[in-house]
Amino acid sequence: MTISYFSLYEISSKARLVIIIMLIITLQSCSSNDKTQTHETTVMQLDTTTVSEPTDSIPSSDLVIITDYDTTLWTEILPSPTLLIDLKYARTDNFTDKQIYDCDRCFLRPHVADALDDFHNHLQEKYKLGIVLYDCYRPRPYQQKLWDIVPDRRYVTPPSKGSMHNRGMAIDIGLVDITGNILDMGSAFDHFGPKSFHSATDISTAAIANRKLMKSELLRFGFKGITSEWWHYSYRKEVMPLSDWVWECDF
Ligand SMILES: [Zn+2]
Repeated sequence: MTISYFSLYEISSKARLVIIIMLIITLQSCSSNDKTQTHETTVMQLDTTTVSEPTDSIPSSDLVIITDYDTTLWTEILPSPTLLIDLKYARTDNFTDKQIYDCDRCFLRPHVADALDDFHNHLQEKYKLGIVLYDCYRPRPYQQKLWDIVPDRRYVTPPSKGSMHNRGMAIDIGLVDITGNILDMGSAFDHFGPKSFHSATDISTAAIANRKLMKSELLRFGFKGITSEWWHYSYRKEVMPLSDWVWECDF
C-alpha cells in the first residue's frame, strides 16, 4: 500500500507536471493560433474586399451613365461619323454674326430624339447617308438674345410667342454622305432668300434631289417642314411646353 501510495503520489506529481506543461503548450498554441487566426481574418477581409469590389469586372449593364440634365425631359444628341453636330448659333458664322449659345450641345425632347434616331438609322441603312444638325433645342433665354439682336418677325420668332425650337421639338438639318461630307442642299443654312424655299428651281439637280429625299423620309418619321426653309423640321406629336432651361457648358 505504501509503495502504492508513493507510486501514486509520484504519478500524481508527474501528472500535475504533465498537466502544467500541457497547459503551457496549450496556452502558447492558443496564443499562436490567435495570432494566426487574426492574420488569416485580416487576409480574408482584404480578399473579400478585393473580390466584392473589382472595378474592372462590373457588368456593363450595371454601368451608370452620368448626365447633368433631367433625362425625363431631355435627350442629348451626341455626334458620330454620320451624325454631325454643327450648331451655328454656338459660333459667329450665322446670320447675326454673333455667338448666341455659350457652347454647342444638342438637346431634344426624348420622343423627338427617338424619332430622329430612327430616321438616322433608316437613312444609313437604305441610302448610306447621314445627317448634320445646325440647331436643336433653343432655350428661350437664347431666343431672347436672338430677338434682342434681330427684333424682326421675318427672321426671329418673338420669345413671348416661342417656336418649336424653344419646345425642344424642332431641328435644323442637312444631309451628309457616309464619310461625313456635307451634301449640296442648294443654299447655306439660314440663307433667307428664294433659294431656301422648297419650291426653288434655280439650284442644282443634286440639291433638288437631296431636299426631296430628306423631306419625304423625314415625313415618314413624323417630321414636317415649312415652305421657306429647307433645313427646318419639327415633330408635331405630343407637343411639349416652351422651356427656359439652359444646358451647362462645363460638364
Ligand atoms: Zn429651325
